Parts: sequence; structure tokens; C-alpha cells
Amino acid sequence: PAPNKKQLGGQRISVCLRKRPLTHKECRRGEADVVTTPSGECVIVHENKEAVDLSQYKLQHKFYFDQVFGAESSNEDVYRRTAYPLVLHMLKGGKATCFAYGQTGAGKTHTMLGSPVRPGLYALAARDIFAYLSTAHMHSPLLVYVSFFEIYCGQLYDLLDHRKRLFAREDGQKVVHIVGLRDIRVDSVSSLLEVISQGTEERTQGMSGVNPLSSRSHALLQIQLRDTNQQIAGRMWFVDLAGSERASDTKEPDRQSRMEGAEINQSLLALKECIRSLDQEQSHTPFRQSKLTQVLKDSFVGDSMTCMIANISPGHLATEHTLNTLRYADRVK
Ligand code: ADP
Ligand code: MG
Repeated sequence: PAPNKKQLGGQRISVCLRKRPLTHKECRRGEADVVTTPSGECVIVHENKEAVDLSQYKLQHKFYFDQVFGAESSNEDVYRRTAYPLVLHMLKGGKATCFAYGQTGAGKTHTMLGSPVRPGLYALAARDIFAYLSTAHMHSPLLVYVSFFEIYCGQLYDLLDHRKRLFAREDGQKVVHIVGLRDIRVDSVSSLLEVISQGTEERTQGMSGVNPLSSRSHALLQIQLRDTNQQIAGRMWFVDLAGSERASDTKEPDRQSRMEGAEINQSLLALKECIRSLDQEQSHTPFRQSKLTQVLKDSFVGDSMTCMIANISPGHLATEHTLNTLRYADRVK
């Protein structure tokens, strides 16, 4: 049989797992750390049901991924082995997409955005992109553009333009455009980070309610390289996904939560199918099944590279969501 795309491309899709440490709050509550990472590819969830049947005690669920990062891993460690190869691909003119998946509180934003002392993947990628551009010998300089928007309940909001509603349209060549999306040219790491921080503020202040909006929406950051004729010369998406536990909100009593849950469920299922189809040369990519996969259509065709970082909490109270995340990530491979 002909080798599939994954074999041909070597590292087209990589699915990684990151376990965060217990937070101070979890420690104070006396939560047990039930996740171990015995090797760089293996993770085990220890299920300690207070069951009568002793055979259920210390049930082990073992999963394997391309990379497994334990609680001691830094953002730099994670970056080096996940987003960095994608950044190199982008600098060679390619397309790349990096997803952070997981339950709310599992560490997606810590991984993507980080903090001033522990910069996340956005900042580390920005550092390498500008370092490369300043040293590379090129015929004409490349320009860096950034755009940042959010998908909430199937609708697009520009985080760099006061949450302006945006619309995705497919043109005659079946290329998806986000009409009206603002992109800002940046000329240094600090100006890029400044733009990201403006967008992040817009994301968290957007709406009030019981659950922070950030757990109910997907945030999509794009960094684009263009030549002086405005032709695209490489692009990379960073996607901080909605909290995966929201996908099960479809049975909530209030209508809004149910709608949000159904939308998130649909988009995460479509995402899984689209990433899986990257593997199969002939298969149909169901990118139209959600707004998320529709706007990312480009990421699922051609020479695109994809990395998914599934984030999990180590606490025993999160076991059910942790297992759901591991099963999802396992299916993406
Ligand atoms: P999410 O975006 O998935 O909802 P966050 O990134 O906001 O989760 O993380 C929840 C909390 O856990 C935050 O206080 C964050 O600082 C902390 N945290 C997450 N990952 C790590 C990590 N790898 N090391 C230390 N603290 C972390
Ligand atoms: Mg978050």
C-alpha cells in the first residue's frame, strides 16, 4: 500500500500531552496527584475509587503520545519540542497550526500565553521568528502581521478591533476568508506581545457571567509573514481552545449553556475528524461541520504541520475530565 501522508511527511501531526502541577489551592484541599508520567511518551492515570470491589482499586489507564511533558516541564521545554519545529516550517514558507486542548484550568493559557516570567508559546515563537528575520540573508525583507479573534457560539469576534463581528466566506477557489479581520503589522517581539496582550484583555473582559468567557470560546492567533508585495510567505496559527468539559454542558438546565455546550461539542468533534483526515490521502475533510474547522480549513490541506497539546490537571477530582481529554487526544493520533 502507498504510504500515507503522515509517513511521507514524517512529523506532520504530533499529539502531545502536558500535565500541570497541583495548584496551591488543590494542595490545600488535600487533592491527590493521580497522574504519573513514567517516560517521555507515556502517561498513567491512577483511578482510586473508594469501591467495595478491591479489583477496582488503583485501576491504571495508560496512554502513549508523541511527547509527554510532566509537571516539572517548563514552557521552554514544551515549546522546544512542540511549536518550534512548526515555527521552522513556517519560516520556510509553510503553514502550521498549534492547538491547546483540555479542561478549563488544565493549563492551556499557561502554555500558550504564559506570564512575563514564564513566557508561553506565543512569546517564544515570536522571539525565534524575529531572531531569524534579523539574521537571515534575504533578497527582500519579510514583514510580520498578527491577527487575533475569538469564536463563541459559532460567531467570530475580532479581538484586535473591539470585538467586531466577523464573517467567514469561501471564494470561488474554495479559499476561506475572514472578511474584515484586522491584522496589525509588528516589527519586534515586544510590539507583537503588546498586540497579544490587548487582544487577551478584550477576550477576558468581553462578557460577564458565571463562567469566564475564555472557557467557552476558542481564541485564534495568527502570525503571518509577507513579502513586500504582500504575498504570504509563511503562517502559523495558535489556537487556545474552549474548555473541553463544556462539550458536555449539553444537558445543562439553562438554554444558553446548552447552546454553548452543543457548539463546543460540535467544533471539537469536527476538529478531531479534520486532524485525523490529515493522515489519509484521499479522505474527505469535514471542515464545514463547524466554524472552527471552517476558518482553519487551510490547516487541514496541503503541506500543513499540526501539533496538538492536550493539557491535563493532576488532581483526583478532575479524573473524569482528564480521562476524557486523554481519550480525545488518543483518537486524534
Ligand atoms: P486553562 O487556560 O486551561 O483554563 P490556565 O492556563 O489558566 O488553564 O491554568 C490554570 C491555573 O493553573 C493557572 O493559575 C495557571 O497559572 C496554573 N498552571 C497551569 N499550568 C501550569 C504549569 N505548567 N505550571 C505551573 N502552573 C500552571
Ligand atoms: Mg484559559
